[in-house]
Amino acid sequence: MYKITWDKETGGVQLHTRVVDDTLGVSPRPVFYEELDLLGLDKLGWKYPQCKEPLLWAVNKQYWYRGELMFEAKGANIYDPATIVFQDGCEKMKLVPVNMKKMLERNREIMFVIESEAIEFIRDTYTTYAQAKKSVEKVKANQLDYEELAARMEQKTKRKMAIVKEDCDSFEVMPLDVANEQGRRVFQTTKIDRFIASFSGGKDSQVVLDLCTRAIPSTDFEVLYSDTGYELPPSLSLYGEIQEYYKKKFPDLRFTLTKNHESVLNYWDKIGTPSDTHRWCCSIMKTAPLYRSLKLEENKQAKVMAFDGVRAEESVRRGAYQRIGKGKHTTIYNAHPILLWNSVEIFLYLFRYDLPINLAYRQGKARVGCIVCPFSTTWDDMVVSHCYKKEMTPFTERIASWSVANGIKDIDLYMKERKWKIKAIGDKDVQNSEVSFPNSQTDFIAIAKNYNYTIFTWLHAVCDYTVTTEGKQTKGELKYKGAIYSYEVLYDNKKNQYKFTVFHCHDLRLIYFLKRVVYKSTYCVQCEVCEVDCPTGALTIYPQLNIDKSKCIHCHKCLNSHDKGCIAADCLRMVKDMDKKITAKVHAYKTFGMRDEWVSEFFSDPEGFWENNSLGTAQVDGFKAWLKDSEVIDAKNSLTPFGEFVKDNYVDDMNMVWELLTINLSIHSFIVNWFVNKVSVGTAFDRQRLNDLLSEEETGASPKTRENAVAALLQLFSYSPLGGEFYFAEEIDGKKYIRREYKDVSETAIAYSLFKYSEMTGIRSLRVEDFYSDDCITGPYKVFGLSKSNFEKILRTLNSYSNRVLIAELNMGLDNITLRDDIDSMQALKILVG
Ligand code: SF4
Ligand code: SF4
Repeated sequence: MYKITWDKETGGVQLHTRVVDDTLGVSPRPVFYEELDLLGLDKLGWKYPQCKEPLLWAVNKQYWYRGELMFEAKGANIYDPATIVFQDGCEKMKLVPVNMKKMLERNREIMFVIESEAIEFIRDTYTTYAQAKKSVEKVKANQLDYEELAARMEQKTKRKMAIVKEDCDSFEVMPLDVANEQGRRVFQTTKIDRFIASFSGGKDSQVVLDLCTRAIPSTDFEVLYSDTGYELPPSLSLYGEIQEYYKKKFPDLRFTLTKNHESVLNYWDKIGTPSDTHRWCCSIMKTAPLYRSLKLEENKQAKVMAFDGVRAEESVRRGAYQRIGKGKHTTIYNAHPILLWNSVEIFLYLFRYDLPINLAYRQGKARVGCIVCPFSTTWDDMVVSHCYKKEMTPFTERIASWSVANGIKDIDLYMKERKWKIKAIGDKDVQNSEVSFPNSQTDFIAIAKNYNYTIFTWLHAVCDYTVTTEGKQTKGELKYKGAIYSYEVLYDNKKNQYKFTVFHCHDLRLIYFLKRVVYKSTYCVQCEVCEVDCPTGALTIYPQLNIDKSKCIHCHKCLNSHDKGCIAADCLRMVKDMDKKITAKVHAYKTFGMRDEWVSEFFSDPEGFWENNSLGTAQVDGFKAWLKDSEVIDAKNSLTPFGEFVKDNYVDDMNMVWELLTINLSIHSFIVNWFVNKVSVGTAFDRQRLNDLLSEEETGASPKTRENAVAALLQLFSYSPLGGEFYFAEEIDGKKYIRREYKDVSETAIAYSLFKYSEMTGIRSLRVEDFYSDDCITGPYKVFGLSKSNFEKILRTLNSYSNRVLIAELNMGLDNITLRDDIDSMQALKILVG
């Protein structure tokens, strides 16, 4: 929230209310002796005490002592330690700990302001929502369920509704903005049953918990800690410590430890590993057990206000959060009291109140998560494998053995570079359940093989139905929205398969729900995620899966709880489709590259283009795939906001538009991403060479499919600026090409590429050097082959703009890039292009 500088005198940091000389662009983290030991500094001749206080501060992997850069830690992964590169004269140092008393005193006033503001926010939120309960009850005393009415109207009109008080104690539902305009008294309609502080073992949630104890009576909220099953050991110890600490101060404060009924390893075995794009473990191991523990009487899910430690600094996505908002589940609201705090302020708070600190921070982790997490880094792997090898091994062993079974050759590299996080991987033996929906002109047909539950376990969630059974055939009628549909289910016990047919079924909504019921019945592993979304308590998943018909109101929330209606179905699809997905991506372009003439024709009339264009049918399909991969059109072939932007700027700055398209293609297009990562600047190639290189990849694609992909790529180079003007393929000799650096790339494209990188990785504080490391998969170097010096030149220009979108600190050994936290990639484009 506040600006930070080094405080050379105390060896600490100082907060400022405005930018001053030497303001740091990034929040540093304190470094303790445990981390220095782990890096082997004691063995390299450094002297420092084994004290409680921090000794240095780290910005990314640069270590600073009293405002001076001492060394940089390079490399580090699950197998290899970091290499220490000292600044001249810093090879042997004697460190004095931070003078905590003085540092805290100097930051006292600013910390008082932000603490007080956060406490005020928590108290206000608590008071408002605690009163909402009373207001809703008062409204209900009027016989009509206004809350339900408001919710329905919101769904219908897509406008936020409010309950307002009329004369004579009656009530009305109207749009919230209209009510505010008219100065009407609005009754808060979100009735909260329970207030919680969710503790995760991390520093942020620890601060929020402490703030809650200062803002809400200890009898009116509770502390929940969700043990995911692969918590770091010090997080579990810290939970014990903080319980003891607060129980002494507030004996009536309730603490609850929640856990899924199954171990996380069992879930890995059943549904595969979590991945970058699918972190199922957060839902299954963390949030679902946590919120299930908050049920009211009759299995009904409580409406919960969770005060959490979400902070904008942690990622661009989080930066866009409102301070109070609806959570992932329909009954959960989240409040983020420290949304705008930076990590220095968090540590200063912990130091000021002498709260226990998770040992993992002292050992060098910047974020405390689970032992194995797709979102952590090679650095985290180094720390965890060094300190908690025993706990890490069962997970890494599984990744390694499944990788072998899936044909991955260099397992060491796969582990070191954390490639496993890109795509889910799993045990081949559990991938035998299958669902298909054969085409039919008249009926809805589903075939489920090796299903876990019969269709009837879930069918009631869709609608009421009748059922009669004769031998292997079961039939009956579905009663959906006033219409009756006959159905039959034919079982084939030998194949462990059933065929479910609903006759004369054309209602698309009904078909959508039926598909979800089929997915759930086939793949359900009783993870309990969708139970949390059931508002009436009708759904019980464990120990026995059951829908209580007397309570089910067919609200379909359990069917909408996740893609495909079931998180397990989605996970298994990802594990199973690992090969197929790549093949499908390669297939989509057929043999056609994206051509500038097509783009030009499309932008001249995006709406009419699909009806009337100069392309052949196969070319249209290929072009659509390219437009989707470049984020110009969405799944319905309509222009996205990005598409609108590039369309509007195409005539004025065609090259800039193509640069932006290239950046998106380098992220979404399998073949472009493969090219920018595998064919580096200076490499000569021809068609055959590309085919050979691609055949070395584990794409699962046939030789023909690979050849087509290469053909499409070469067409893209020939018919767009990429080949000649952007130097992806400069012709050197007939059909031979060389890739060269594209130096003239625009500042706008570079800024856009950094924001896109940040949105992909969740990291907002970047370093020039990161883009030149082997594990970076996109960015200015990978996409345009931009050299470090040219990249830095462009960064300096961007930094000098009055309305800048990033701060680049490139002097005095720094190479930090900090992206503005209040904008995303699209807004950055609009600011830069004007
Ligand atoms: S969420 Fe609950 S009430 Fe709604 S359809 Fe599912 S089981 Fe029925
Ligand atoms: S249906 Fe899917 S999401 Fe729901 S409990 Fe079963 S596995 Fe979990």
